[in-house]
Amino acid sequence: MGSVAVLPEKEVGQPIEGANGYLTVNLSALARNYAKLSTLVAPAQAAAVVKADAYGLGAQRVCSTLYESGCRHFFVAQFDEAVELRPALAADAKVFVLNGLQPGNEEACAQSDIIPVLNSLEQWRRWSATAKRRKCKLQAVLQFDTGMSRLGVPPEERSTLAAELAGQVSVEILFIMSHLASADEFDSDQNNDQLVEMKRISKEFPHLKICFANSGGIFLGKNYHGQVARTGIALYGGSPSIGKPNPMAPVVELDVAVVQTRTVPAGAKVGYSGAHVTNRDTRLATIAAGYADGLPRSLSGRGAVYYEGRRLPIVGRVSMDSITIDITALPEGTLSLGSLVEVVGTHQTLEDLARDAGTIAYEVLTGLGNRYHRQYR
Ligand SMILES: *Cc1c(COP(=O)(O)O)cnc(C)c1O
Repeated sequence: MGSVAVLPEKEVGQPIEGANGYLTVNLSALARNYAKLSTLVAPAQAAAVVKADAYGLGAQRVCSTLYESGCRHFFVAQFDEAVELRPALAADAKVFVLNGLQPGNEEACAQSDIIPVLNSLEQWRRWSATAKRRKCKLQAVLQFDTGMSRLGVPPEERSTLAAELAGQVSVEILFIMSHLASADEFDSDQNNDQLVEMKRISKEFPHLKICFANSGGIFLGKNYHGQVARTGIALYGGSPSIGKPNPMAPVVELDVAVVQTRTVPAGAKVGYSGAHVTNRDTRLATIAAGYADGLPRSLSGRGAVYYEGRRLPIVGRVSMDSITIDITALPEGTLSLGSLVEVVGTHQTLEDLARDAGTIAYEVLTGLGNRYHRQYR
């Protein structure tokens, strides 16, 4: 594993050269979040969900930090993600593919020491046949559908699967898992319904470890922890439960550079379609990130950025590569070419931004893209 380089810090507001924006990932906050979640689930273990490039933050950096913090279970969604990640991790780390075993990947999966999450009887049979063909024991996780109707062995396949598992030695089942559909909603009945179903499954597939809770599930209580919990958004500083104070440390900061400022009179049209018309003399700044950088077009005329705590509203449409903001609230000359404004940070959380965009923190995080200069602290 490569060591984690510490790049020079750039302060918000300092003129900078080059980068359109800085995506700062606080790796020590990530490690603190991992430690906190580990303590919460102990004696269960906390696994890390690092799909979609660790929610857009850089899987290799994130994984090496988490490995150093003691994490040994890493979940990605797609097989190709696992192929990329596996060689970067030490041999005692396990890499799991949530989306299952795609036909054609069996040999590569076995060869690369990647562990599939088996989502059906058919996937189980192909994996077990692979083990027999290779004359070696392979590991797997069994995922069950407990009411989300998305992934996992469906109820009608369970008894056949249980019969086929009995006495077999070709595949070692590390644990059984399922995923909660409403874990971030503390008072949803669906949580308990799925828990009851998971307990039933665990009786049908006895003596196997249970991997159940995601970030939200951890905060539903001990019943949901099983032996391994899969933590994603909470590691990255996102809020695990809707409508409750966020107990996690923020991991991500996003600062974007000003690329032009101007003063316009009342009646000036701003941006595409002239969707905003000024009603007074207005100072504007255009910043160098748009919907191609994961700042959704739905922030048009709704969202804001911050400068030293001052809210600077987005005016007009979000463009592909830029956004125009109203900076009249700041003393003249405060912002100039290259100044940085806060998009995510002390004054605006991921959740704030997501709410203004009409989406969730997960979508904002994973959409941020790679045109920002990334710095890891
Ligand atoms: C994405 C995902 C997770 C992580 O969920 P968070 O809410 O981000 O903690 C866990 N399990 C499965 C199956 C997932 O798809």
